[in-house]
Amino acid sequence: MDFDAIVIGSGQAGVPLATRLARSGRKVLLAERGALGGTCVNTGCTPTKTLVASARAAHVARTARRLGVLVESVGVDFAAVIARKDGIVRSWQEGIVRRIADAGPNLRLVRAQARLVGERTVEVDGERHRAATVILNIGARPIEPPIPGLTGVPWLDNRRVMELEELPSHLVVIGGGYIGCEFAQAFRRFGSAVTIVEPGSHVLGQQDEPASEAIEGVFRDEGIAVLLDARAEQVSGAAGRVTVRLSSGGEVVGSHLLVATGRRPNTDDLGADAAGVKLDQRGFVDVDDHYRTSAPVVYAVGDCTGGPQFTHTSWDDHRLLFDVLTGRPGRGRKDRLIPYTAYTDPQVAGVGLTERAAKTKGVRYEVATLPFAGIARAIETDEKAGVLKILVDPSTERILGASIVGAEAGELIHVFAALMQAGAPARAVVDMEAVHPSFSEGLQSLLMSLPRYALS
Ligand SMILES: Cc1cc2nc3c(=O)[nH]c(=O)nc-3n(C[C@H](O)[C@H](O)[C@H](O)COP(=O)(O)OP(=O)(O)OC[C@H]3O[C@@H](n4cnc5c(N)ncnc54)[C@H](O)[C@@H]3O)c2cc1C
Repeated sequence: MDFDAIVIGSGQAGVPLATRLARSGRKVLLAERGALGGTCVNTGCTPTKTLVASARAAHVARTARRLGVLVESVGVDFAAVIARKDGIVRSWQEGIVRRIADAGPNLRLVRAQARLVGERTVEVDGERHRAATVILNIGARPIEPPIPGLTGVPWLDNRRVMELEELPSHLVVIGGGYIGCEFAQAFRRFGSAVTIVEPGSHVLGQQDEPASEAIEGVFRDEGIAVLLDARAEQVSGAAGRVTVRLSSGGEVVGSHLLVATGRRPNTDDLGADAAGVKLDQRGFVDVDDHYRTSAPVVYAVGDCTGGPQFTHTSWDDHRLLFDVLTGRPGRGRKDRLIPYTAYTDPQVAGVGLTERAAKTKGVRYEVATLPFAGIARAIETDEKAGVLKILVDPSTERILGASIVGAEAGELIHVFAALMQAGAPARAVVDMEAVHPSFSEGLQSLLMSLPRYALS
């Protein structure tokens, strides 16, 4: 064997796997055809969250009057916003270069496309290598939906929209998932007119309705046009003027078009057949609970396995697979708790079952909801938009699921995630002494609105 392990893709699982395996004495080849760090660092979480932070600063300044603070005028230096984003991305990339170098001579990095060409055999940069283990961390990329006319217009995806040098005068966003929503609100706050075209009945359609409705209300208040049940039937135009014809007969004309309708796996040029790696109907790699593909000694982690597609999931995949590879399997991938956050403002966070999912699965539950405006701190800071919801198992008092739309929801959700992970009863939050005034007090109030925890 040339290598103990070949890792294809330097995403959120690939880099830590390659470096840890190398540091444990194994000879490792890491192949990366694009930018080191994959989606999260280069075109996903890091750049979007820096943009969202700049957009929020503009919004807070613009709306400071509600707190009695007068800001004469607010301008957005879009070039500076982009430069800040690029600087932070660069610093993360440099960190990855250092981590790979620090892993020592056992780790060889090859910056090229890798292909499976047979059992345990990978071709990269014109050379063929055999390995005891092959790990696929090849990620996903935006879907190009089959909308007639799309190929003829200069549409943007999540990468290209962040390379714009000038602010769009009117950004039309097809797709109201979390990626579309985050960009929509950020660009609106930078000063663009924004229209969301969502074919479903709500944006963030995997949430229960009150959560989606809360965000739609905020978006509309900020001047975003949210078109629901609106299917893009045809796209036409050229740079600076793009027309989206809707199935309802109407049309939206914008200066720029962002398409955010989902992501497909990077398996089309992998050579999966040559190695006997089975893909599902959508092209994702089929894996079992311990990341084994249908091909012996080939494992797959991260977005290419079909999701949930999050950085923290891919990173957790690396921990679980490292244990499998080093002979200490513990947790499996399928029964994990995977919390998530959409970085809209307010944020939308969740963990476990939604009420809709609980109903579909026939799970018994007690449910409580609380408007975010019912939290003292939310009133004091004037961050009242949102709603909290929790589902509790009536017999064990364990939390089945929670969703929070509200300020710092992405932080608050971890209280419930940790309790669920520990298998602790919801009563722990009821008995906890919550700091006043904090958003976390709302978690307690939420639970105390259930009859079983109500003060008599
Ligand atoms: C706009 C946007 C915002 C996001 N925001 C968040 C967020 O806030 N929080 C969150 O948790 N997640 C977020 N995500 C999702 C997150 O970025 C991904 O889930 C995460 O990056 C995990 O990816 P991965 O490790 O599976 O693979 P990736 O990070 O996609 O890495 C795969 C790597 O493999 C390389 N590669 C592919 N094929 C080959 C080949 N044949 N040979 C060599 N190299 C190859 C690719 O070039 C790529 O670098 C966001 C995604 C997007 C698009």
